[in-house]
Amino acid sequence: MPADPPSPSASERKPLSMPQKALRKMGLLRPVDMALHLPMRYEDETRLGKLGAARDGDALQFEAVVQSCQVVFKPRRQLQAVVSDGTDMCTLRFFNFHPNMQKALKVGRKVRLRGELRGSFMGYSMMHPTVQPAGAPLAAALTPVYPSTADLPQAYLRKAVQGGLARALQSDVFAETVPRDHLPPHSWALRESLQFLHHPSPDVSLAELEDRSHPAWQRLKAEELLAQQLSQWQAKHDRQLLNAPVLTQSTRADGVLAQLLALLPFKLTGAQQRVVNEIAADVARAVPMHRLLQGDVGSGKTVVAALAAAQCIDAGWQCALMAPTEILAEQHFAKLVGWLAPVLQPLGLQVAWLTGSQKKKERDTMLALVASGEAALVVGTHAVIQDKVHFKVLGLAIIDEQHRFGVAQRLALRQKLSDADSLGAQGAGAAQEPHLLMMSATPIPRTLAMSYYADLDVSTIDELPLGRTPIVTKLVAETRRDEVIERIRAQLQEDRQIYWVCPLIGESEALDLRNATDTHQDLCDALPGVMVGLLHSRMPQAEKKAVMSLFVQGQMGVLVSTTVIEVGVDVANASLMVIEHAERFGLSQLHQLRGRVGRGAAASACVLLYSLGEHGRLSDTARSRLRAMAETGDGFEIARRDLEIRGPGEFLGSRQSGAAMLRFADPTADGELLQWARQIAPLLLDQYPQNAARHVERWLGGKSDFLKA
Ligand code: ADP
Ligand code: MG
Repeated sequence: MPADPPSPSASERKPLSMPQKALRKMGLLRPVDMALHLPMRYEDETRLGKLGAARDGDALQFEAVVQSCQVVFKPRRQLQAVVSDGTDMCTLRFFNFHPNMQKALKVGRKVRLRGELRGSFMGYSMMHPTVQPAGAPLAAALTPVYPSTADLPQAYLRKAVQGGLARALQSDVFAETVPRDHLPPHSWALRESLQFLHHPSPDVSLAELEDRSHPAWQRLKAEELLAQQLSQWQAKHDRQLLNAPVLTQSTRADGVLAQLLALLPFKLTGAQQRVVNEIAADVARAVPMHRLLQGDVGSGKTVVAALAAAQCIDAGWQCALMAPTEILAEQHFAKLVGWLAPVLQPLGLQVAWLTGSQKKKERDTMLALVASGEAALVVGTHAVIQDKVHFKVLGLAIIDEQHRFGVAQRLALRQKLSDADSLGAQGAGAAQEPHLLMMSATPIPRTLAMSYYADLDVSTIDELPLGRTPIVTKLVAETRRDEVIERIRAQLQEDRQIYWVCPLIGESEALDLRNATDTHQDLCDALPGVMVGLLHSRMPQAEKKAVMSLFVQGQMGVLVSTTVIEVGVDVANASLMVIEHAERFGLSQLHQLRGRVGRGAAASACVLLYSLGEHGRLSDTARSRLRAMAETGDGFEIARRDLEIRGPGEFLGSRQSGAAMLRFADPTADGELLQWARQIAPLLLDQYPQNAARHVERWLGGKSDFLKA
């Protein structure tokens, strides 16, 4: 977690002003943070232009004499002035204006104006230009425009940054950490780069500044990528020093693992077998595993988790499995109990269940089972990481759909599980951590995996179980809804089941709900005699469970739901997925949803219903997403396209990882700098460890923990 700012001394305790609060909220506390708050663009106030030489769209500063100035009503009240600079005329328009403005624009006065020029055959015009007296000295450098928020005026922020920058440059906080010989060729010095980016000289190419190809930008990006690589290497290094239980694979025929394998109703795919082996080898080492298991929806990750759990239990340790939603946790629980209970029971062991909605009595019973070690496996939601949960001997923690957990939650999990408390048995001595297995159906493209997850080993299931028929995906306009309902009827005739998913509409849960409720009603009316269920996030847990179990058992033909079913639900008889307003969903979300069907041998289909909206057309990104869905069913290809459409920052998001900490560099576009950072990080840690620590501190301050999560 980011460190709290030092508590204010008595004299500073007066309440913070609005902009001060805003600065804090943006994390701009230390001079170094201010100095690293770089402009997103610049305004050129260093020179004066001429109307005669300007073009439509130019950002122009010029001086001119006021010809006329009056308040007019066309169509609404506005101040309109006409000015001339001798080369041409320009009309200025102000809607909300202060009476002072009329004084400033007195006829005959010469003024300096700055704004965006609009030009048409009617002549030039400018809306709301900045007005100053003519003849004031011109700026010596380009004027920076910083990323800001509504309650933080640009002028205030500019001053704060300038002050912070000056202090930072006076101190040694920006002393070079990388020896000159190891910098990328032709690098600018760090201080010089910072000074320049905040106040570039007017002769610079604005294009180079804007696309961040300027050497000063390159230097800052290199610094940032290096900080990120360093903290990842450090995390890896720190982990190597921790101890973890050695979970050797049991070869006993009556072991939990052997019995589970014998019990499975199917044979593992080659890819499953391979990742099972990778995990088995990892947990048998005394260093905590930190592994991501990625595999497309339906590739069979759950059984891999179960086998790892079995190995852990055979070695005499407990295993915890945490899922992001109660529905999903419940499904895991049901499946794992089915597989493991018969094997565990004769050994006097159980599977425990922990969730937020549990009654106190049941929960206390479960907590006791966990604490005594009688619960060999603990399945649940976030409830698993709550304070009251004490494991006797936790050896392995598994997080399903890990991308659905926030960075802070994952961090809490690791911290919690590493307390001495939860490791009773061998607690004394070196710090201990359980092994950690994270599972995700959202694959991370290679370039990103390389840059962001230096401290993560990745196992990939790249093959689906045999006998799956590919899902046919169709894009259908909302206007053809009736045809879709026909199709549902046909599927119901064949005793198949159908999902119908409605999106989150805007910010309002109420609207979201109404949409799903309306659709539910429509379908009930259109399909008399068919059980049509409704599932949404605001239903009481018990009702959700009841609806879900009717669908799982096959009595319910159609399930209308909001996106609560997105992850993990496994009903093999469901063969049609309809997604309403598909244009509003993200690509990986669509892919996840589609993965709910096609789990059995029957041919399955996914219908993406889209509507064109008020502009009568889809946005470009919506169009690319829908096209990608129609063209491919491969999760890795989907991830690649998603990255292409959204860019890495958004693709990963702050929830997904500390990756959002990259503010300036883009690992896909700045590949060369990334390569450099990957090479230099271990060298710096090895030969200049103090510089490495200083480097991470100045970039990440207290935030570096986030990168490890
Ligand atoms: P996901 O990777 O999306 O979590 P699941 O673990 O839910 O996928 O598996 C999807 C379905 O495939 C489940 O019904 C599971 O029992 C089944 N399954 C898993 N592995 C195999 C296999 N090797 N052969 C046949 N079916 C399998
Ligand atoms: Mg799953």
